[in-house]
Amino acid sequence: MKYNIALLKGDGIGPEIVDSAVAVMKKTAEKFGHSFVFTEYPIGGYAIDNCGEPLPKDTVEGCLASDSVLLGAVGGPKWDELSGDMRPEKALLGIRAALGLYTNLRPAKLYPALKDASPLRSDIVSQGFDIMIVRELTGGIYFGERGYRQGKYGEEAFDTEAYSVMEIERIGRAAFDAAMKRSKRVASIDKANVLETSRLWRKTMHALAAEYPEVEYRDVLVDNAAMQLVRDPKQFDVIVTSNMFGDILSDEASQITGSIGMLASASLGDGKRGMYEPIHGSAPDIAGQDKANPIATILSAAMMLRYSFGLSAEADCIEKAVDSVLENGWRTADIMGSAEGDPLGCTQMTEKVLEAL
Ligand code: NAD
Repeated sequence: MKYNIALLKGDGIGPEIVDSAVAVMKKTAEKFGHSFVFTEYPIGGYAIDNCGEPLPKDTVEGCLASDSVLLGAVGGPKWDELSGDMRPEKALLGIRAALGLYTNLRPAKLYPALKDASPLRSDIVSQGFDIMIVRELTGGIYFGERGYRQGKYGEEAFDTEAYSVMEIERIGRAAFDAAMKRSKRVASIDKANVLETSRLWRKTMHALAAEYPEVEYRDVLVDNAAMQLVRDPKQFDVIVTSNMFGDILSDEASQITGSIGMLASASLGDGKRGMYEPIHGSAPDIAGQDKANPIATILSAAMMLRYSFGLSAEADCIEKAVDSVLENGWRTADIMGSAEGDPLGCTQMTEKVLEAL
């Protein structure tokens, strides 16, 4: 099969880590007989310098014409003084909106080989964990009516949360579909003991759960979920939740893995096209020094193959190659922990993954 992939390398370590993921995808294509056609478009600070704006029209059109998008990272000190609309980070919101991406998939996986990196006690993480957080991305309190008014105690500010059945259903379906490709367990996180939106959320999720009899479903209150994530993270497979709860819980989940250079993410909409990116930023402190860990971007590419192209065997193959590189003790500087020896650079780590493939 032939797939067109838009590459948004961006700033800082963006170009290095995207090049690594492209090398891994090319090798995977060769191995499985596919053809991936890559086209680069400017975004972020690079686009400001070369096109005068962070998200040029051609970039949006190129992404819309592609089968999927791989993003490195944007931003850096050079552009920090620019105002609102001209900031590199503004391009991220713009491209997500232009592509209609309302589902955010964020895996938080602790590899047994890297358990020293987790801030959790070793007996809690001895078997690792593998959680997929499915966060609603374009609704809820971040997008509700807001403002200032006179209240009981004088001036007050307010934000409101609204969710429609349609919005809950479509994110719910994304979660159940993701669970069907994993260990078939969904925990839906809400605050149904207090919030009306959560009661509608729960009712809608229950109706969906009936359509997926193979999936083991449960409701968890958000305060309990925050506690359970640090008490026993491996109890979770897929977590589905609203925009704000997902914002908070996905940061908690990524932190307990302890290694920012390892975590991938996907943003999806109605069609097959998605945008895939590491969760970390452009790391200006190590940019251009061949020190970046490319694994988060390589795993983002694996997510693209699985979720946008339905190429599960190919995605498994990349993930297994990464597993085996880590099991064999190869480390970049950010995941050295107490390991001995010199860390690998970005290029060498990429070569190790290619060899393992
Ligand atoms: P950051 O994630 O770029 O870096 C935080 C720390 O983690 C740094 O010490 C960095 O060296 C390290 N790090 C990050 N990724 C790494 C990797 N792959 N390998 C090894 N080490 C890695 O966060 P920051 O320093 O707060 O932000 C830097 C810039 O990135 C800012 O301009 C910020 O706005 C931008 N940013 C962009 C995105 C994005 O493009 N999606 C996300 C977050 C931050």
